[in-house]
Amino acid sequence: MASLFEADIASLKGVGPKRAELFRKLGAPTVGDLLRLYPRAYEDWRDAVPIRNTLLNEVNIVKGTVLRRPVEQRIRGGMTLYKTTITDGEDDMQLTFFNNRYITSLLTEGAVYAFRGKVTGTFMRREMASPEFVPESRMQDMVPVYPQTSGLTSRIIANAVKEALRLLPETVKDPLPDALRLKYALCRLEYALKTIHFPNSPEALSTARRRLVFEELLVLQLGMAEIRRAGVRENPYPLKKDYTKEFAALLPFTMTGAQQRAVQDGIRDMQGPHPMNRLIQGDVGSGKTAVAAALCHTVIQNGFQAALMAPTEILAAQHYESLSNLLALCGIKTVLITGSMRAKAKREAIKGLKTGEIQLAVGTHALISDGVEFSSLALVITDEQHRFGVNQRTALAKKGNFPHTLVMSATPIPRTLALMIYGDLDVSVLNELPPGRQPIETYLIDPPKRRRAFGYIKKHIDEGRQAYIVCPLIEEGESDAASIAAYEKIVRDYFGDMPIGILHGKMKPKEKDAVMTDFAENRTKLLLSTTVVEVGVDVPNAVIMMIENAERYGLSQLHQLRGRVGRGKYASTCILVTEAQNDETLQRLRLFCSTTDGFKVADEDLRLRGPGDFFGERQHGLPKLKIADMLNDMQILQEAQQCAKELTERDPELSSPALRGLRAEMRRLFASNNGTVTL
Ligand code: ADP
Ligand code: MG
Repeated sequence: MASLFEADIASLKGVGPKRAELFRKLGAPTVGDLLRLYPRAYEDWRDAVPIRNTLLNEVNIVKGTVLRRPVEQRIRGGMTLYKTTITDGEDDMQLTFFNNRYITSLLTEGAVYAFRGKVTGTFMRREMASPEFVPESRMQDMVPVYPQTSGLTSRIIANAVKEALRLLPETVKDPLPDALRLKYALCRLEYALKTIHFPNSPEALSTARRRLVFEELLVLQLGMAEIRRAGVRENPYPLKKDYTKEFAALLPFTMTGAQQRAVQDGIRDMQGPHPMNRLIQGDVGSGKTAVAAALCHTVIQNGFQAALMAPTEILAAQHYESLSNLLALCGIKTVLITGSMRAKAKREAIKGLKTGEIQLAVGTHALISDGVEFSSLALVITDEQHRFGVNQRTALAKKGNFPHTLVMSATPIPRTLALMIYGDLDVSVLNELPPGRQPIETYLIDPPKRRRAFGYIKKHIDEGRQAYIVCPLIEEGESDAASIAAYEKIVRDYFGDMPIGILHGKMKPKEKDAVMTDFAENRTKLLLSTTVVEVGVDVPNAVIMMIENAERYGLSQLHQLRGRVGRGKYASTCILVTEAQNDETLQRLRLFCSTTDGFKVADEDLRLRGPGDFFGERQHGLPKLKIADMLNDMQILQEAQQCAKELTERDPELSSPALRGLRAEMRRLFASNNGTVTL
């Protein structure tokens, strides 16, 4: 049985080496993958319209009686045409088929068929060339439409699938045990596969789909559960005392209600029976750093160490700056650990952490490099979590004896996706911004208006403010470096000798730091940058964020960029520049202009781009889903979660014979994920 699923796609009848290559490109190197290549839509022959209502030069479906047997006509180049006429009782239509001698036997005079194809000709004389068709008896069928690649039509794919289904044995081994299927009212795998490709009715389709979505989400949940299993154990670092009051006295401001609640959630966790496993979701600027600082403070005052990991050197440095200054007030020693630090400084830092003389480490992923050890690491915080794969999070956690972990997500994650990625992580939401924040207005312009935008920037700089301009340059790649230079020239031509900072990913960390510091201290007025400014930097005097080629970014990323302004007491503006003409793109960007609610933006992003692209697949470490739809399958997700919980409570290793199939599916799903998540 397993052999059919694993058989090379080229072993199917009708799939030669050339087509096999195309199937591989579509993500179906094996017969099993082909069966799991689900249609993205279905065509319904019931959508037929009267001939006179067809739209010229568009694809239409019509239903008609064949008036005469197709007649053969030889034309130049050895081609043969077959022509016939159909009628729907009111109007006639001429049909032409090329080089298809079977057509004479496929179309019977006097019988009714539904035809689908592009209608050409004139208003009076309509024609269709090489239409697809089905006899009237099959008009109830729904025809699968597959994701296509050039050279593979939906029909070719459908035929290959048919062939694969024909080979399917009577009793396909089902990864879902019978008891489980009955409990959750799920159909058999064999029925589901046959029906998802060739449904007899919308009801049958929905039964099949439900089963496949359930299975996919269940397998995903089981995989995530396995990754997390290590975290569920006794609390090795129970906190005795809450020092939040003492911490509040150090802060130059009062924490918002949401911040206080998040801190209390965290402290309660760390006093409890198990290690903390919490996600803080807060929109940009909601003050996550202060929450992190409060928790580090209490952990350290209880006699332990803490670590905070940020995705970039700039951000790590900024966290280091604010945390070390604040916590030094009560004698806490902090160290910054990055990849670019000098060997000597690093040696000392590592020594200090190992002896426990230093209580707090802030850094990049260099924190998880082998040399770093702690004496009593009780709390690990990762900021801007989506930048780290799940496995990096676990790697840092392994530095301690299963410490408390806190994940801070700057990109609000839609609830559904959060459930997927974090499963049973506890969540605190910072749904309140610190007082006095100014709204950010967002505008969409086309390149001819760029100079006006420059004028607007200049006016604000003259008033003492600062601005960012972001160009979409990928950090590696020569041509990109050239294009930032080209843009720099445009900017310098306009702004004359105004001090401008240039920032891109190819610079050395030291250089980047210097540029950032100049901007933060208001020595440069304008920062021309790649998206490296995206994450977390805090310059309250900057009030304009202009983004070139805005269409290239996901909405969540735009939201991050926009979050760099509106951080101080000044009203701020975000200007999106795009040449895009495409309706869908413009609509997406207009929606972005109309809201500053990060959760709304995230939902929209998810709806438009799907979870695979949400953060860039590589970054969130979630396997690509084939059928589940994160927005509409919430209900099934909850059931699958419930089911995963029951299964893992009873049999955490899924080692019973009934669950072997599920375990195999789980390993397969995660193995196909470029090794981002290792099981
Ligand atoms: P983010 O959640 O995006 O990481 P930050 O922690 O960087 O946000 O905070 C954004 C800014 O708001 C910082 O300048 C910080 O000092 C300030 N801030 C945070 N909490 C408060 C508060 N309760 N009152 C006033 N300012 C605050
Ligand atoms: Mg932050």
